[in-house]
Amino acid sequence: MERDQIVELDLKHVWHPYTSSEHHASMPMLVIRSAKGCWLEDINGQRYFDANGQWWVNTLGHAHPRLVKCVQDQVETLAHCSLGDLTHEPAVELAKELCDIAPAGLGKVFFSDNGSTSVETALKIATQYFQQNGRPEKKRFATLAGAFHGDTAGAMSLGVDGVFTAMFGPILFEVVRPLQARDWGQTFQRFLELVESKREDLAGVVLEPFIQGAHGMRMWPEAQGVRFLQELRALTKTHHILLILDEVFVGYGRTGRMFACDKAEVSPDLLCLSKAFSGGMFPMAATLAQDFIYEGFRGGADRALLHGHTYCGNPLGASVAREVLRIYKDEQILERVATWGEYLAFRWQTLAARRGISNLRSMGMVAALDVGEDGYHGTRGWKVYEAALRRNIYLRPLGDTIYLTPPFVIEKSDIDWLVDNVAESIEETY
Ligand SMILES: *Cc1c(COP(=O)(O)O)cnc(C)c1O
Repeated sequence: MERDQIVELDLKHVWHPYTSSEHHASMPMLVIRSAKGCWLEDINGQRYFDANGQWWVNTLGHAHPRLVKCVQDQVETLAHCSLGDLTHEPAVELAKELCDIAPAGLGKVFFSDNGSTSVETALKIATQYFQQNGRPEKKRFATLAGAFHGDTAGAMSLGVDGVFTAMFGPILFEVVRPLQARDWGQTFQRFLELVESKREDLAGVVLEPFIQGAHGMRMWPEAQGVRFLQELRALTKTHHILLILDEVFVGYGRTGRMFACDKAEVSPDLLCLSKAFSGGMFPMAATLAQDFIYEGFRGGADRALLHGHTYCGNPLGASVAREVLRIYKDEQILERVATWGEYLAFRWQTLAARRGISNLRSMGMVAALDVGEDGYHGTRGWKVYEAALRRNIYLRPLGDTIYLTPPFVIEKSDIDWLVDNVAESIEETY
C-alpha cells in the first residue's frame, strides 16, 4: 500500500489514543514500516530517531536480535497457555528470576498484560487482603497530586485530578490526596501527615517513585525523595498500610537503578512493572507481592484472589521478559544508563541559557524541559515536535513538556546530535 492510502484508511477507521479528531488536519501522521535499534523507518524509507522509545517501553533498541530470536523460538513451541490449572516453564522461570532481583520480600508474582492492569491487580489484592483479614474498614487509597497510574477505571481513580481522567469522575472511586503544594518538600510533608491522619481507612498508598511520568516528567529532588520514601515506608508499616509502588515507567533502569525504589533501599509491599519489562516486544506486566500478603489469601476457594486476565503469564511475553533480563546482564545495561545518563544530563544542562526553556531536569535516562506554562494543553510543544520531525527525530511531547526517553543502547554521538537538534527545534518555534 502507498502512504496516502494507509493514511486515508487510518483516518476512516482507526481510533487513536489521546488524539482529537482535528489533530491530523494540522499534524503530519508518520506511517512506520520498520524499526531497528534507536531508529524508526517510514514507508518512504525516511528514518526518525525514536526519542521516546515508543511510550517508554523500548530500552534495548528495536528488533534486538536476541529478542527476535527468542520470540521465533517460543512461538513455535507454545504461543499461549493460560494459567488455569496449567503452568509452563517461561512463566515459572520468569517469576523466580523477578523475585531474585526484586527488593527484599517480594516473593509472589501475578502476571497481566499492561501497566494499567498491573495497577488494577495491586488495588484488588490490597482491597481483598483487608476485606478478608479482619480490617474491612481499610478500603481507601492515597496518592500524590499529579499521579498517573493508567487508564482503566481503578487506575484512573488514582489519578483523578489529571487531564486524562477529568471526564470520568462519575465512574471513579474517591481517593485520599493532599492539595497541590508549593514544592516537593511541602508535598512530601503533607502526604505523610495525611497518611497518618487517615491511617484507619487506608488500604494502601500508591506512588510513582522519583518521576511522575505522564503528568509532565515531574522529578523528585533525589535526596529528599530518598528520605520521604524511607519515612513513608516506616509509617505505612506501623499503620499496616500497603506501600504500592508503580514502577511501570521508572523501573528497569530508567532512573539509573534497576528499580527506582532501590535508590532508597525501600521494599514495597506491591510492585507494579510493565513497559520496559518486555523490551517493547509484547504487552506484558507483573505485580509482585510480599509473601505476607499471599499468606492473607491462604485457604479455600472463598479466599482466592478473584482476579485474572486471559493472557496471564503468556509464554511469548514471559520468554521475552526473561531474555530482557539476560540482556540487561550481558550487555551491562544499568552501567550504560549510569554512563550515558550522566552524559545526557551534562549535555542537557547546556540548554539552560537558551530562550523559552524552563525547568530543565534529568534523571537516569530521562531528560525533560518546559517550553511554556500551559502543561498538557500547551501548543508550543507541538510546534517543537514538528520542527524535530523535520530533523528526523520523533519527539512526541506532553503538551509544553519536551522530553527524551531514548533506548538505553543510545551512543554518545546520538546524544550530542539529539540535544543539539532539540535546541534548534525549540529555537525554530520563535
Ligand atoms: C504508562 C503507565 C501506566 C499504564 O500503562 P499502560 O500499559 O499504558 O496501561 C501506569 N503507570 C505508569 C506510571 C505509567 O507510566
